[in-house]
Amino acid sequence: MPTEQQISGWGRFPKAQGQQHFYRSESELAALVAEHPHCIARGGGRAYGDSALAGVMLNSKHFNHVRAFDRDSGLITVEAGLILADLLAAFVPQGWIVPVTPGTQFVSIGGMVASDVHGKNHHVDGSFGQHIQSLRIMMADGSIQQCSATDNADLFHATIGGMGLTGIILTVSFRMLPIQSAWIRQETRRCDSLDAVMDEFEQSQHWKYTVAWIDCLSQGENLGRSVLFRGEHASRAELPMPLAERALAPKAKRKLNVPFNFPRGLLNRWTVSAFNEVYFRRAPEKRTDFVDYQSFFYPLDAIHNWNRIYGKKGFVQYQCVIPKAESREALQKLLGLIASAGEGSFLAVLKLFGPQDGLLSFPTEGYTLALDFPAKPSVFALLDRLDQVMLEHHGRIYLTKDARMSAHTLRQSYSELSHWQDIANLYDPKQRWQSEQSSRLGLRQSEPPKEAQNS
Ligand SMILES: Cc1cc2nc3c(=O)[nH]c(=O)nc-3n(C[C@H](O)[C@H](O)[C@H](O)COP(=O)(O)OP(=O)(O)OC[C@H]3O[C@@H](n4cnc5c(N)ncnc54)[C@H](O)[C@@H]3O)c2cc1C
Repeated sequence: MPTEQQISGWGRFPKAQGQQHFYRSESELAALVAEHPHCIARGGGRAYGDSALAGVMLNSKHFNHVRAFDRDSGLITVEAGLILADLLAAFVPQGWIVPVTPGTQFVSIGGMVASDVHGKNHHVDGSFGQHIQSLRIMMADGSIQQCSATDNADLFHATIGGMGLTGIILTVSFRMLPIQSAWIRQETRRCDSLDAVMDEFEQSQHWKYTVAWIDCLSQGENLGRSVLFRGEHASRAELPMPLAERALAPKAKRKLNVPFNFPRGLLNRWTVSAFNEVYFRRAPEKRTDFVDYQSFFYPLDAIHNWNRIYGKKGFVQYQCVIPKAESREALQKLLGLIASAGEGSFLAVLKLFGPQDGLLSFPTEGYTLALDFPAKPSVFALLDRLDQVMLEHHGRIYLTKDARMSAHTLRQSYSELSHWQDIANLYDPKQRWQSEQSSRLGLRQSEPPKEAQNS
């Protein structure tokens, strides 16, 4: 019998008390579901906030096998607990990669579906859900449903991006992408302002991958100065020696570790500005080179436990998306507020999204900005101000990163929420799937929770 433990998401805020149960088979999972009236699925625990926290968490860690793979079509079926890093370690050397990846490979495939994750290629390929052929899901009554875009389509669309609140994803079938090499041809460009980097994004729509790191403490005419990266999978023929010799197997890199929690005071306006200044100045004005796929997609994974640099009290990530037509004005305002508050955020990430995907999925066509802040009262006050700007410009916040938005903000920004709720209630009428986040936001209720109504 598992004991109660204190547990958190990647941001280490908030912390909750709960029991984690691990299962190895569908029958073990069915027994756990029958035993616990309320619970939530948990995968790699890489969601930043409280979406995978609850009194009872059903952890998929040991339910992690590849069930089938068709080399002709690239169609793969995996158990939802499989960690992306393990999938890539096995398949990249054989010339296959996932069609969409988040910025860490320590996520489970089930977690990628539940958050409908996006990568640096959303403007070209959409989010992960677009590549899923079918799902098998354990429902609240312990039965198993198969679904796809044509079969139980409502359940399929509500589960992709549904934050674990429609059932426990058991298996995921999706198409892998063939690659000739594990290298990315990367072009780096330094941009001196927000306008400059947004112009670069607009001119880079034909590139498969684009992302920019913004120095969000720079102000005035340098507001939004950034380093933009764009990339394409390198063909074997274009690789120089000796990379061509190891086209699908780049040498493993040494990993660094953050061995303890940093003291809070270490991250302040001065240390962070100094870091950002060095980062920006070291970036080349323009350069093309070949980088291995891990360095390109997962730069932060090279530092184990990097979440400790924000100290014991943890941190929050603020990620919003603003529709394209309003992005320039809104981003100027958001970055202006962030720069003048000087709350010690390192580099922020800017990406361009293509058209909207699912019901509760985060991406909508426009620019998305993501940045980390230490969890403390002055930051929460700043984030409330950012929310106001975000709402004025018809944006929304990413649920998988969220730990603090209000139920009111959610309702103003997710226009498909009540449609999604109808489907979730149809398949789980007793509302057995519950997370700390779903209770905080009243995600399963048509009205916001009482204490949140006036916020
Ligand atoms: C460094 C870093 C970079 C990131 N970059 C990106 C990015 O670029 N793009 C992006 O989209 N996201 C990004 N993320 C967020 C991350 O991809 C998502 O939070 C993802 O859902 C985490 O997967 P997980 O397995 O760790 O899920 P968990 O954190 O364990 O759970 C997240 C949600 O998924 C649900 N869930 C998990 N497993 C199942 C299951 N089997 N069935 C049903 N529901 C399930 C949980 O209930 C919860 O609601 C990043 C996170 C980190 C830490």
